[in-house]
Amino acid sequence: NRYTKEDIIRLAEEEDVEFVRLQFPDIFGVLKNVAITVSQLEKALNNECSFDGVSINRYGELARTDLFLQPDLDTFEIFPWRPQQGKVARLICDVFNVDGTPYAADTRMVLKKVVEKAKRMGYVFKVEPECEFFLFHIDDGGMPTTLTYEQAGYFDVGPVDFAENVRRDIVLNLEEMGFEVRSSHHEKAPGQHEIDFKYSDALKTADNLLTFKMTVKSIAKRHGLHATFMPKPKSDVDGSGMHINMSLWDEEGNDVFYNANDEYKISKKARQFMAGILSHIGAITALTNPLVNSYKRLVPGFEAPVYATWSAKTIFALLRVPAVMGTHTKLELRSPDPTANPYLAFAACLAAGLDGIEKELELCPSVDVNVSAWTEEQRRTLDIERLPKNMCEAIDALEADSFITEMMGESVARQYISAKRKEWDVYRRQVTEWEIKEYLNRY
Ligand code: GLU
Ligand code: MG
Ligand code: MG
Repeated sequence: NRYTKEDIIRLAEEEDVEFVRLQFPDIFGVLKNVAITVSQLEKALNNECSFDGVSINRYGELARTDLFLQPDLDTFEIFPWRPQQGKVARLICDVFNVDGTPYAADTRMVLKKVVEKAKRMGYVFKVEPECEFFLFHIDDGGMPTTLTYEQAGYFDVGPVDFAENVRRDIVLNLEEMGFEVRSSHHEKAPGQHEIDFKYSDALKTADNLLTFKMTVKSIAKRHGLHATFMPKPKSDVDGSGMHINMSLWDEEGNDVFYNANDEYKISKKARQFMAGILSHIGAITALTNPLVNSYKRLVPGFEAPVYATWSAKTIFALLRVPAVMGTHTKLELRSPDPTANPYLAFAACLAAGLDGIEKELELCPSVDVNVSAWTEEQRRTLDIERLPKNMCEAIDALEADSFITEMMGESVARQYISAKRKEWDVYRRQVTEWEIKEYLNRY
């Protein structure tokens, strides 16, 4: 472990920390926090800080009493963009009941359990995300718009790319918090960007994603811009994905997915892992693509996947085996978007992959072309499955997949499904601008 309690108390003193944010994800992966002053730090480190979970979205229905926050000492970090006198630090926390048992709606715990299972099987799961986002202007009232005056595209440079300095500032702040940033670039759509940071074990990467999103939003705001991780803010340009690159290591640090003698340099276990993911893909999609809006990204004509295929040769596949130098094998899942609860998304991918290994599932042949261009007939002859078309189909698939709902735990699964059903029900009653434009005059 990185820090002891004493380390943190000393660090807080040395660094002139005045406030500590105790943070945790709600069941949708939205970051929540309560700030304490440094005078309460010792109490917090003794797991004595409690809160009332009832008002947190879909979180509190089991919370008849107070919930307790148990800080993960390794997550202590100072926010570099906050004042440097009387600094602000944070600790990510697990959530416990008063009797010391883990709180059922804590999705960090859901991931921890699957990681434990992997460990019992002799594996460590590592994830490297590629998170995309848009930067838009803010209106006079301080509210975000979908407006950008930028016309830059993939890998463009300044001055066509307006946001070089914003990305620079984000990257420097991330690095100060210990991120190993791999690269950053302008993405395909005007106003769209991507910043990639190095893989860690799944829990750390999920924690990092909460920190990443908070940092991107905070720094963008300083530059007078709104950063959004909404998957498809504009219908005519690419949406924002969050590809996840997965690798599996054994206890000695060997790459379980690598096989030098294979055509694509992947092992039998890598194939079984992919087969496991494909066999649960409907339910997984409900977690990796949680919003009504998520499904407007998963359509033909852009770079997001639509069909459940795998390939080592085309980016149009759902699961891709990227070419790598050396022996670090990664399996890239291209469907997730940045609004996923990373704890649930990683837990589902890992659990499904392990299921594939345990059942020694056979992987279907790879498909190295964009099957969106095929006819329905052609796809049917190869038995190619489509990803859920909308949130409702995804939630149906989740509800039908008892392996994934059991992995989530009864209470998270129930809350998640019922919240999403309600969201869908509100959405499907909306009369949209598109309908008015298409129908009002003509009929
Ligand atoms: N923006 C694309 C997406 O939805 C991905 C582009 C890329 O390959 O980086 O998923
Ligand atoms: Mg990208
Ligand atoms: Mg990618």
